[in-house]
Amino acid sequence: MADVFMNTYHRLPVTFVKGAGAWLSDSNGKHYLDFTAGIAVNCLGHGHPALVKAISEQAAKINHVGNYYQSDVSLAFAEKLVAACAPAGMEKVFLANSGAEANEGACKIARKYSLKKHGPGRHRIVTLRGSFHGRTITTLAATGQEKFHRDFGPFTEGFLFVPPGDIDALDRALDPSSVAGFLVEAVQGESGIIPQDAAYIKAAARFCADRDILLMFDEIQCGVGRTGTFLACEAYGVRPDVVTLAKGLSGGVPVGAVLGGEKAADVFESGDHGSTFGGNPLAAAAGLVVLDTVQTPQFLGEIREKGEKIQGILRSWDHPKIKEIRGRGLMIGVDITAEAWPVLEACLAQGLLILSAGARTLRFLPPYTITNGEIDQGLGILRGVLNKG
Ligand SMILES: *Cc1c(COP(=O)(O)O)cnc(C)c1O
Repeated sequence: MADVFMNTYHRLPVTFVKGAGAWLSDSNGKHYLDFTAGIAVNCLGHGHPALVKAISEQAAKINHVGNYYQSDVSLAFAEKLVAACAPAGMEKVFLANSGAEANEGACKIARKYSLKKHGPGRHRIVTLRGSFHGRTITTLAATGQEKFHRDFGPFTEGFLFVPPGDIDALDRALDPSSVAGFLVEAVQGESGIIPQDAAYIKAAARFCADRDILLMFDEIQCGVGRTGTFLACEAYGVRPDVVTLAKGLSGGVPVGAVLGGEKAADVFESGDHGSTFGGNPLAAAAGLVVLDTVQTPQFLGEIREKGEKIQGILRSWDHPKIKEIRGRGLMIGVDITAEAWPVLEACLAQGLLILSAGARTLRFLPPYTITNGEIDQGLGILRGVLNKG
């Protein structure tokens, strides 16, 4: 492996050069079935014709304009994105480049909303143990996992963690004299594909509404159709104040978004926030294709059906090494009795890319465009690997 990169990633020994649909090819010409979609990013697969066309045409027209100005395509993207999130009550959007940056924006909105309306001292943001919200100093502070808090302090102050599913603990933590926002993943991704309990989210929404605390969903991994509804929070029937998106939103071009409902849409004033690349024309052109493709009821229905198919096949094996299968749509976690990493390595050798989420959980985030035949093929490889090891 090239040693020009800093040591941040524990990379598998493969170098990809090309992709088509749910397939990737390495520098030796070997093909791999991709059940990872670049960690929920390439939601339309690799080389999707409409996406390639939109990106190429946009690159030839205009790549970037500074945020002193507006571009036609960024405006069209923002309008379509807000419309897609309107059923969840979203009214306006700020466009950024990444998930962490989107969550930073959400935290700023919560703090300013609270300051303006309730005065100082009410700046805390409550998040869940096991959550993952990003890698910047502030979003690490928001991330409820100790292993991320080594070596990089001091962190941004004002984050408080609660155990997922514990309504009484949440009731106590959401103290209206000190808390501005509650930030939660509808389905926790990095910590093992853990959907939140419906009663818990309903209770959280009630506490937040009663106490004027902003309810903020981090949908960076689970949003944009991944779970079979455009936003994962739609399945809970609650109305968030803020939603953050990134990963799949532009199908592989860097993008992030903070959306705000009635309380949050107009919190930022001119000069309060910004991002040089945020939502530039290239990202917007790609995002328009993703929104046009993913939003139809039929497409979302297919995501749910494919997810059910995967879970159904996994359950039908009744495999002694599989302990639990969880997930929604094409966001699936499988707890196994063995270490996940050797399974990833063995699958790679057999031409299947999968992810882990924690030491003993396999994670599948395939592109939405994966076919039923490819699902059968990929799971066949996994079954062989589990049988052997
Ligand atoms: C990936 C992820 C992030 C961070 O996104 P980046 O684009 O890597 O900054 C934040 N929250 C969740 C839920 C994620 O899955």
